[in-house]
Amino acid sequence: MRNFLTCIVVGFAGVSCFAQQPAPAQRVIVLHAARMLDVAAGRVVSPGEVLVEGERIVAVGATVARPSGAQVIDLGDVTLMPGLIDVHVHLFLHPGAEDLQTVQESVPQRVLIAADAAKKDLMAGFTAERDMGSEGAGCADVAVRNAINSGLIPGPRMRVSCNAIDLTGGHEDAIGYNPAQHVLSNADAADSAAELVKVIREQRKGGADFTKIYETGKDSYAGGVLHTPYQYTVEELKAAIAETARTGGAGHGVSVHATGEPGTGYAVAAGVESVDHAAQLSDATMRAMKAKGIFAVPTFAIGDYFLEQAAPAAKERRRVSQDLHAAEFKKQMAAGVPFAVGSDVGPFPHGTQAHEMVLMGKYGMPAADVLKADLLHGAKLLGWEGKIGELKPGYFADVIAVKGNPLEDLAATEQVRFVMKSGVIYRQD
Ligand SMILES: [Zn+2]
Repeated sequence: MRNFLTCIVVGFAGVSCFAQQPAPAQRVIVLHAARMLDVAAGRVVSPGEVLVEGERIVAVGATVARPSGAQVIDLGDVTLMPGLIDVHVHLFLHPGAEDLQTVQESVPQRVLIAADAAKKDLMAGFTAERDMGSEGAGCADVAVRNAINSGLIPGPRMRVSCNAIDLTGGHEDAIGYNPAQHVLSNADAADSAAELVKVIREQRKGGADFTKIYETGKDSYAGGVLHTPYQYTVEELKAAIAETARTGGAGHGVSVHATGEPGTGYAVAAGVESVDHAAQLSDATMRAMKAKGIFAVPTFAIGDYFLEQAAPAAKERRRVSQDLHAAEFKKQMAAGVPFAVGSDVGPFPHGTQAHEMVLMGKYGMPAADVLKADLLHGAKLLGWEGKIGELKPGYFADVIAVKGNPLEDLAATEQVRFVMKSGVIYRQD
């Protein structure tokens, strides 16, 4: 972190120093590196330079102008690329604490944990994220988003949803605990179209950008086939989507947790923005997703983490589920379903989720397509198309540098060496 340090004398306690960002409008920076990713063209150019003025990119090329007073930063043998995008995160989750987190941890405690998670994600190169439910912390995610936007804490630019929405007795309704104990659900309950609209209005009043709905679950596997009950009908989901459309555009609609049928088909028929997890879809659903441009978000990284961590007795079940999903992913690619990259990070450590891209590559997607899914589709899904996801004049200066060449090896995205967001440098190794 290279900022001006401001030091003040604090009573008799001594001297306290804090990082102070210079006014972005005054700063002119030229970034130089051995390589630069042109994600839209699917190629790496060499060398690469980005001219940044304030919070925006002004010029990009093999060489750029060096205005007088510009700070030139030679990052060396790395690849410049747009800041990474994760469209499925949980800032309010951490390893080992999902189900009883609302019982064991207060919301203030969870907010501090979320702030730390946001910092870890940013330092790992993620400059934009979508938080898919605060998991029982209500609209506390709005406070985290706002603190990031005002420069109070470091973190990605965020789209947040407050709690996810779920049926009474549905996927996320503290199932498995004695109902008489009233263990809080991690989601807000809605059991009809009218209740969906009511909850959405309350969440938007609380500052939510978009809406997450559980449309299927819980999943079970019998004979290698996924079984999962749907939660809302097409008409109920249409009412929810119509309500979000009343006040928002792209990035402000409804996205669903959905696997299997008929739930995923219902969500796609209603017109959601993305289908997250997205295993075992019918041919008709895949065709409709292609036709409507509805993104599938595979979230392989969480399954991989739980497979690696599983006790021997549970490993086989985890492996069947992950292998099934990988096979389904190949079918979805062949059917032309568009993808975005989301890891479901939270239950596994924040800052490690670039592994999602490595897994998408491992399961058959060419590296150039994985990077397009992450950067171009991610920007579109979050409603920031034309603002982030590429290194282009006029875009926000969300620029990272990675060791190696991500087109040759997606694991380069796990080797971040430099992070800039909105023209402010947060990491420079
Ligand atoms: Zn999730």
